[in-house]
Amino acid sequence: MPRLRGAELSDRYDIAVIGSGFAGSLLAMIAQRLGRQVILLERGTHPRVVIGESSTPLSNLLLEELATRYDLPNLRPLSKWGSWRATHPELSCGLKRGFSFFHHLPGQSGPIVRENQLLVAASPHNAIADTHWYRSDFDHFLVREAQHLGVDYLDLIDLREFAEPGGEIRLAGTRNGQSVTITARFVVDATGPRGFLHRALNLGERALPDFPATQALYSHFRSVPRLDEMGAATVEGEPPYTIDDAAVHHIFDGGWIWVLRFSNGITSAGVAATDETADKLKFADGAPAWERLLQQLPVLREQFSTAEAVQPFRHISQLAFRSASVTGHNWALLPSAAGFVDPLLSTGFPLTLLGIARLAEIFEHDRGSESFSTQLSDYAAKTDAELLATSRLIGALYANMAKFPVFAALSLLYFAAASYAETARRLGKPHLASSFLLHDHPQFGPACARLLQHAQTIRSNREAEALIEDVFCAIEPIDVAGLGNRARHNWYPVDVEDLLRAAYKVDASREEIVQMLDRCGFRPAIL
Ligand SMILES: Cc1cc2nc3c(=O)[nH]c(=O)nc-3n(C[C@H](O)[C@H](O)[C@H](O)COP(=O)(O)OP(=O)(O)OC[C@H]3O[C@@H](n4cnc5c(N)ncnc54)[C@H](O)[C@@H]3O)c2cc1C
Repeated sequence: MPRLRGAELSDRYDIAVIGSGFAGSLLAMIAQRLGRQVILLERGTHPRVVIGESSTPLSNLLLEELATRYDLPNLRPLSKWGSWRATHPELSCGLKRGFSFFHHLPGQSGPIVRENQLLVAASPHNAIADTHWYRSDFDHFLVREAQHLGVDYLDLIDLREFAEPGGEIRLAGTRNGQSVTITARFVVDATGPRGFLHRALNLGERALPDFPATQALYSHFRSVPRLDEMGAATVEGEPPYTIDDAAVHHIFDGGWIWVLRFSNGITSAGVAATDETADKLKFADGAPAWERLLQQLPVLREQFSTAEAVQPFRHISQLAFRSASVTGHNWALLPSAAGFVDPLLSTGFPLTLLGIARLAEIFEHDRGSESFSTQLSDYAAKTDAELLATSRLIGALYANMAKFPVFAALSLLYFAAASYAETARRLGKPHLASSFLLHDHPQFGPACARLLQHAQTIRSNREAEALIEDVFCAIEPIDVAGLGNRARHNWYPVDVEDLLRAAYKVDASREEIVQMLDRCGFRPAIL
């Protein structure tokens, strides 16, 4: 801990990380493992409620890779549902077997029919499934782990000043009425959008092209029944997974609702919507706005009729964000502080984890080297480019929320890129998928960007059908998950045969794929 000098807390560190969400704590642990002297500074205190809960195969793989590479064995079990529940039953989480989408027309009642459903499995069975992180437990665990590893941690700190006297950074503020001064050679900002450094350095904002202004409103609830028990969706035959054990998305013109269930009986739910929709419903009113929205969506009105909010509703009046700068001479914003697009498709965690991996490599190899600033600029450029790629995708999805067949096809661009990237990394070939959404892939990247731009202008059914065909063509060379199989009618299971057939797309033999599946714990599903 910083030493007490008179009425002041003060000390010198290699790295100061500001913000102890999962990302700040994880980066602090990695830096500590790399032999740096690290302090983690938090405005609030743990446990605390924070949003951003749903993980994905790529985010869990990145978490596992970081835990392995930087010798953080206590974190590894948290990268899968089965090992999480077995190792840390005291930390709540939710089972996420896939992504469920249901399209709603205003006032439409009765079960949601198959053509208004999109179910994309992310794992073949529960043991290796993804999770929803109950952030209050998850983040508290991570910050305690960081402290066990030797990271100094100061909570309840009110930072007021960032100065750079003589090449070092001085952070000054107060804690419980006492002045605190921290000196560090490098500062990482993990305080989220429009966070500490953004304000302290007046970094400015840039627009996200082709992305509408959006807002969010959300809370945590108890007593939310499951859609499958309500018979809310038509289910003929065997769905790829139980529809509620997923990140459940309810899509309507102008916005969408998420519903995520946790093992402790809590359900997270909220809405992200364009300003037009949010202003019409008056999101700033909180709970009454949520009620007004549910009145327009009979299936959800029924699902939440017995629900009780256990947290005050929170309203974010400006959801999307892009910082005009990402790094300086001796500071960096994590991707989660450098920008945010939307919760749709759970892109926040993988973007942040990719950024943590890149910064960790810079700390590992380039300490004090001449290439340090070049590496930091490269990190900044990649962070911004990945944010823009995400915004192109989600912007196109927003533009087509009223046209579900187009929305469903466009979302396959995400699923194809994500499953390809996961497979390439699991095969030890990360160079095949070095960027998020494969945005710098020589063929898929530009093809995807063109389609997403075109998707902003779709008016007629003919244009919609042509775009859908083009999406299927674009994903074909990278599709390792059978997403191009139209006979599946929007229900996509994880089928090992798809991966085996597509082995050549990831430069692998069938034998390599089988070995990879064994390593990843697919076996129970194969037998
Ligand atoms: C509505 C919504 C839903 C989302 N859903 C998902 C999802 O399902 N999946 C997904 O992948 N991503 C999601 N995201 C994105 C996700 O929330 C972020 O990627 C993730 O939380 C980033 O984690 P973090 O640790 O960087 O930041 P945070 O979790 O925001 O933590 C920041 C920490 O910094 C502290 N802090 C803030 N200011 C200061 C200061 N001045 N001094 C010191 N400390 C400070 C805060 O108290 C907090 O503890 C969502 C985002 C939103 C807004």
